Amino acid sequence: MTWGAEEKMQFLFALRSRGVTDGRVLSAMERTDRASFLRGLFAERAYQDTPLPIACGQTISQPSVVGLMTQALEVNPRDKVLEVGTGSGYQAAILSQLARRVYTVDRYRRLVIEARATFEALGIGNITAVTGDGSHGLPEQAPFDRILVTAAAEDPPSPLLAQLRVGGVMVLPVGQSDTVQSLIRVTRTEDGFDYSELRKVRFVPLVEGMGEE
Ligand code: SAH
Repeated sequence: MTWGAEEKMQFLFALRSRGVTDGRVLSAMERTDRASFLRGLFAERAYQDTPLPIACGQTISQPSVVGLMTQALEVNPRDKVLEVGTGSGYQAAILSQLARRVYTVDRYRRLVIEARATFEALGIGNITAVTGDGSHGLPEQAPFDRILVTAAAEDPPSPLLAQLRVGGVMVLPVGQSDTVQSLIRVTRTEDGFDYSELRKVRFVPLVEGMGEE
């Protein structure tokens, strides 16, 4: 599957028309071929602005949502970032171009193994993919400058709030799993947390414990 000039233009046009305007985010997405993160027939639909199925009954997020979340995270080149919900690895690959180091956690071992293989095939060296329950964060690597959660919890998990550096930003969907959720942005200040709502979204649920595969 090649990432042709025409497909790339349409892909970037769709991102811009849905509000992804940050030049660094757009160029990271332009350099990251989404088809590399999909298997079989789904790879043919890689450039459509739609979520698609991946292994373990999970989904790769819609590209414009990936773009909007990445943009809202305001990643700096020196940042250490935690992503909860590796899935295909696509979101982590985009973060890896904007940050110093990315830690990504998924509860399915199979997804982590496949994502690692994809990162290696693409020559990405600054992502550490870990199998585990990301609702506990990654205490041994905390604090993080940025945290991105790509599965929906009812509320921001308190271990994640605790692992966010002062001045740090976390972007995550919150709400009941089978209804519309809100994408929120949490900023840690000296004396607490500031919350703002970005938009409505729909994500797979954040599930506690390890996956079976
Ligand atoms: N960011 C992914 C899409 C993630 S879909 C991508 O770019 O492809 C959401 C992922 O969150 C799924 O892979 C699911 O297994 C994972 N997940 C759900 N609950 C989790 C938990 N408690 N800890 C870690 N991962 C979790």
